[in-house]
Amino acid sequence: MINDLPDEDPERRHMRERLECIVIRSEKASSWREQSHRLRPLVNREGFVPVHTRLSIEDLDFLSDARENLLGFAEFGLRMLDLHQPRDAGGITSDTAHPILRCRSCMWRWPCPTFRAMSETFHTH
Ligand SMILES: [Zn+2]
Repeated sequence: MINDLPDEDPERRHMRERLECIVIRSEKASSWREQSHRLRPLVNREGFVPVHTRLSIEDLDFLSDARENLLGFAEFGLRMLDLHQPRDAGGITSDTAHPILRCRSCMWRWPCPTFRAMSETFHTH
C-alpha cells in the first residue's frame, strides 16, 4: 500500500502519508460496533450510559483525532460529490431516454472514475 515514488510531488506525498497514517491508526484501534450495540439499551434518563473500559494506546491515538478525521473525510466526500456529477453531454443520440452523460468536472463518461472509486469505497465499508 505504501508507494514510495521518487518523483512524486511533495504535497501529494505528504497527503498520501497522512491518509496512510489514518488508515493504520484506525485499523489498530478497537472496533466499538458490538459494544455500542450492547450499550445502547443501557442509556439512562439523562441520555448517558456510564462506561468502564480499557483503552489501549492505539485506541487513544485513534480517539484523539477520530472526530476531526471523520469530519474531514465527510467534508471531502461532499466536495467530491459536488465536483463530480453528471451532465448531459449533448450531441445526437438515438436513445433519447438514456442520453450520454459526462462528468461535468473531469469530462469522463458517467459514472466517472472518481465517482466510481467513491461508490466502491463507501459501499464496501
Ligand atoms: Zn468526474
